[in-house]
Amino acid sequence: MTNLVGKPPGEIQRELAPYCDLPFRSRQVAHWILQRHAVSFDEMTNLPAELRRRLQQLFTIGDPELVEATASADGARKFLFALDDGASVEGVAMPEDRKLTLCLSSQAGCALGCRFCVTGVLGPGRNLRPDEIVGQYRVMLRATGVDSDRVNIVFMGMGEPLLNTENLGTALEVLCERVSPKRITVSTAGIVPGIRWLAGRQRRPKLAISLNAPDQDRRAEIMPISRRYPLDELMREVRSFPLERGRRVTFEYVLIRGFNDAESDASLLVRLLAGIPSKVNVIPLNEDPEHLPGWRAPDALTVDRFGRTLAEAGLTVTVRWSRGRDVAAACGQLKGRRDVSNAPTPARPS
Ligand code: SAH
Ligand code: SF4
Repeated sequence: MTNLVGKPPGEIQRELAPYCDLPFRSRQVAHWILQRHAVSFDEMTNLPAELRRRLQQLFTIGDPELVEATASADGARKFLFALDDGASVEGVAMPEDRKLTLCLSSQAGCALGCRFCVTGVLGPGRNLRPDEIVGQYRVMLRATGVDSDRVNIVFMGMGEPLLNTENLGTALEVLCERVSPKRITVSTAGIVPGIRWLAGRQRRPKLAISLNAPDQDRRAEIMPISRRYPLDELMREVRSFPLERGRRVTFEYVLIRGFNDAESDASLLVRLLAGIPSKVNVIPLNEDPEHLPGWRAPDALTVDRFGRTLAEAGLTVTVRWSRGRDVAAACGQLKGRRDVSNAPTPARPS
């Protein structure tokens, strides 16, 4: 059966047209799914019962299965989703002021192998389909009971979104039906052709770059992708990324003890970002002795000093001790539950 989740309005209407006597019926269904996030045809009370029954036999409205939700003391919630082939991914919901930020995964793993990242250390996973990407948003929205007007979306979960541009593009189209592209951020480890692809989109989300080191040598040491797309090439691409008035590029900088946390590194960073409307997120490394043995965060004083050096040079800086640390829900700590992929699928109660 065809799943209607993850399809843009035009496609939903095309799928349904043969079964609807009146053209506006298919628009009504699209509205229920895209605007009201319906999970079943039963909810679509303005449709004739006969039509609802018929559609139910032909189509599904299917989201990834939520298998576990873990609450953190700081209010973040981590969600584990089981996909239909046994792969699993995680998403995180983080309340901020009166908003809720939803962190979505784009792949069931990551092939880029950044050395400080649990997802990267655990290895590659397949691309998520549009329904699996949009489904994370739909499920987290339902579980938190928050209105989509108050939601920000960040692609900072598992995987490299710009290595899954085809499905990401469709998912963005669907998400933008309800959430303004101004409230969606795509984070990348620096896939240059992907950034160019994003730049060319009509409804362009915001761009975040995982920088994590102030020079090419050190960046290549912890982010192997930097050998393929060196820092100068990446920065050239970022400088030509179209920015509407008031928009900025976010730079994420994971602070690692003794590696990239010196005041001189902050100064190098200032020079690197000169002239770019930017926002720097300084993220003290989220430690994980099991998957990242030997990798440590700097002490609070060093973190403070680093942030202050950037701010004093005129950069906009936020220091973000990762949210959800106690439940390993921080972005970059997401790992799915990889053992389920080989386990037999448990029978679902009918
Ligand atoms: N692949 C994309 C998006 C997902 S990673 C990217 O790299 O941008 C999301 C963010 O988590 C990245 O900015 C990454 O630098 C950060 N991150 C990874 N591991 C981390 C860790 N151990 N502690 C803190 N942040 C981490
Ligand atoms: Fe992949 Fe991003 Fe983690 Fe690097 S930081 S391994 S690109 S998920």
